[in-house]
Amino acid sequence: MAESFAVGRAIVVRHVWRGRVFLVWTAVVAHDDTNLLALWIPPGAPCLRPGVRDALPYEQPLVERPWHAPGVLQLWARGAAHAIWLLDDAWYVNLQEPFRRRDDGVETADQLLDLVRARDGRWSWKDEHELEAAVAGGFVSPEEAAGVHAEAERVVAADPFPTGWENWEPDPSWPAPSRPAGFF
Ligand SMILES: [Mg+2]
Repeated sequence: MAESFAVGRAIVVRHVWRGRVFLVWTAVVAHDDTNLLALWIPPGAPCLRPGVRDALPYEQPLVERPWHAPGVLQLWARGAAHAIWLLDDAWYVNLQEPFRRRDDGVETADQLLDLVRARDGRWSWKDEHELEAAVAGGFVSPEEAAGVHAEAERVVAADPFPTGWENWEPDPSWPAPSRPAGFF
C-alpha cells in the first residue's frame, strides 16, 4: 500500500458502497502529506458514473462519462468525512467517507449530501433529498445519515475558508490520467 503518492502521479478514486464500486474518477495528485491529499481532476479525465442521472447511484451499471470542464482541485484532509472542491465562484463541500489508500489510488464513498459556500459567506445545502431517499430505500441507515449531517454542521461551524489553495494552478507538464484498468 502506498504511504503517499508522488505529486503529478495519476491515481484512481473508487467510491465503494457495501463492497460494490458505484463511481470511479481518475485524478492527478497535487499534494500528499500526513495531513492533506490534494487531487486535481482535469477536464476530460476518464470517469465511470451511474448510468441513470437523478437516481440513487447504488446498484447501477456504470457508464463512461469524463470529467467536465474546467476540472477541479479537491482537498481531502486525512481522516475527514468530507472533501472541499475549489470552484471558480464558490467552495463545494462533498460529504464522503474518510479515504482509504490503495496501491493505485484511494477509496471513499460519496454520501450524496453536499454543501456550497459562496464567496460572500452564504451557505446552501444540495441534494438533501437524495440522502433522504437513500435512507428511505434502505441504502443508508438513519444513523449514517445523521453522521453525514453532523459532519456538514461541523464544516459550517468551522467555516475553513479561504483554504489557501484558491490561486493554485495545475502543472501543465502533468500527464492526463488514462482509463483505469479493469473497468472497461
Ligand atoms: Mg456528493
